[in-house]
Amino acid sequence: MKQPELQVNTIFSVPFGENCYVARLEGRNDCLVVDPGLEPHKIIEFLDEQGLVPAAILNTHGHLDHIAGNATLKQRWPDCPLVIGSGEAAKLTDARANLSTMVDMAVVSPPADITVEDGETYSAAGLDLTVLLVPGHSRGHVAYLVEDHDPPVVFVGDLIMAGSIGRTDFPDGDGRQLVESIHSKLFTLPDETLLLSGHGSRTTVGQEKRSNPFVGLQR
Ligand SMILES: [Zn+2]
Repeated sequence: MKQPELQVNTIFSVPFGENCYVARLEGRNDCLVVDPGLEPHKIIEFLDEQGLVPAAILNTHGHLDHIAGNATLKQRWPDCPLVIGSGEAAKLTDARANLSTMVDMAVVSPPADITVEDGETYSAAGLDLTVLLVPGHSRGHVAYLVEDHDPPVVFVGDLIMAGSIGRTDFPDGDGRQLVESIHSKLFTLPDETLLLSGHGSRTTVGQEKRSNPFVGLQR
């Protein structure tokens, strides 16, 4: 039997140039919303237009540009669980820790409904997501891997971008850990694995292995 198609749409938020992803299996009306940013009305508009209901809101990490839309989405869909890595959950409700005070904003999110751990599988909207703890940009940063799909897909947040890497100069950032996270958790996946980043365009494991100037393997 043919697997239902996984569709992933990008909702781009202009401030901070952040990508929110809406992922769903063809033929279903529930979906995942990954990292709703500062323009949640665009996300709601898209979901309404497509007749979609979020089964989970997933955050890769607790920085303001990835969590700013949580409150508006939870207001509209109060029963939809908000999911984040356990090491990152405290940032949701702390404007200093989520870096919003740094840019003179005061973004806070509702608290997490569910916290996830490294290696755990979280399932929603018909998708099984493997949680990968990938510290470096932020200590409790997680990536969500949809392994059971051809090609596999990973929501990588601010760990890696096409031709670049996430910043590591924040209070709990760590450059060495970031490289280690990419090499041990992403570069061990098949080359065709699709990487969906918090900023910038889509890329693949193979492309970044070959050509990323910061963490590529061919020099
Ligand atoms: Zn970030």
